[in-house]
Amino acid sequence: MKNEGIEGTERFESPEKGRGLLAVRHFAVGELVFACPAYSYVLTVNERGAHCEHCFTRKEDLFKCGKCKQAHYCNVDCQRGDWPMHKLECVAMCAYGENWCPSETVRLVARIIVKQRVTTERTLSERLLLLKEFESHLDKMDNEKQEMNQADIAALRYFYSKHISDLPDEQALTELFTQVNCNGFTIEDEELSHLGSAVFPDVALMNHSCDPNVIVTYKGTVAEVRAVQEINPGEEICDSYIDLLYPTEDRRERLLDSYFFSCQCTECTSRSKDKAKMEIRKLSAPPEAEEISSMVCYAKNVIEEFRRAKHYKTPSELLEMCELSLEKMGAIFADTNVYMLHMMYQAMGVCLYMQDWDGAMSYGEKIVQPYSSSVLSRCDE
Ligand SMILES: [Zn+2]
Ligand SMILES: [Zn+2]
Ligand SMILES: [Zn+2]
Repeated sequence: MKNEGIEGTERFESPEKGRGLLAVRHFAVGELVFACPAYSYVLTVNERGAHCEHCFTRKEDLFKCGKCKQAHYCNVDCQRGDWPMHKLECVAMCAYGENWCPSETVRLVARIIVKQRVTTERTLSERLLLLKEFESHLDKMDNEKQEMNQADIAALRYFYSKHISDLPDEQALTELFTQVNCNGFTIEDEELSHLGSAVFPDVALMNHSCDPNVIVTYKGTVAEVRAVQEINPGEEICDSYIDLLYPTEDRRERLLDSYFFSCQCTECTSRSKDKAKMEIRKLSAPPEAEEISSMVCYAKNVIEEFRRAKHYKTPSELLEMCELSLEKMGAIFADTNVYMLHMMYQAMGVCLYMQDWDGAMSYGEKIVQPYSSSVLSRCDE
């Protein structure tokens, strides 16, 4: 493919910002800036049977791969289209049975390696940025990340070496995994539940802002970048890499830890929305600053603890964790405080899982109001 770029946009390089994407014409709110097919993608294991592995369509009457009985497809065309990737796993899943458990990143990287071998030209996903050009930030990896990287490489060799001849050497794999960790995307459906992982090189070209002018949504395995603010020629086009619900300090920690930069956007400088996000309960005696900061600390720990607990605790134990933390935080935080909202959202998820509809509804009602007002405030600006 000849490199024709993306109409209305331009790649730029600058000493301060590195590279990024620039608008060269006007985009109205809601307008599609560009669409980018996935370079490689993988459906998450939990959604097997509900979505087609090839096009991600959600359907009732998908049919199974006759060999592994795990992958599901719309029709023979989807099955054929997926075979170059599915064949890496089909036989292995039968052979390993329940012991087949590579992580989603490992599965995605295996697909990228195979795709790179059969692709000789620039793909439609790389009109402005090649996958090979992804930043890896190898020098910024701490021990914990290095260990995870090693574990991923070991799993890739263990589960895939039979089906991918001469895997790249250790150094090349380390680089590829770090590139995918910094530039990979998770594909979500309209309800924001996780469908899979993918790489979209042109989408990865955009820099982050906590006050983004575009958002990324997905249609099947295609990413769509749409303007959520008016964009004028000469302005940089930025999306957000993270959940913007949280206050400045949390966002900056998250960006530094996962993407290795400290955000200098207008929202991080003005911190204009932090006060609303950190709403304190109206009490006759307002809490001391120290009480508030120790509660924030508690909230962050409990969120992290809950994230881990999801893998080994029972639903009723998880619900108890939510209730206890909400009671404790509720002494200081208002119901609209983001940490309260986070735990209520988790509690609602557990209730739904336990088919406790009344419980889910009561949390849902408390969440909906602040969430919708935060959406409104975005559009009003
Ligand atoms: Zn399909
Ligand atoms: Zn199969
Ligand atoms: Zn920021």
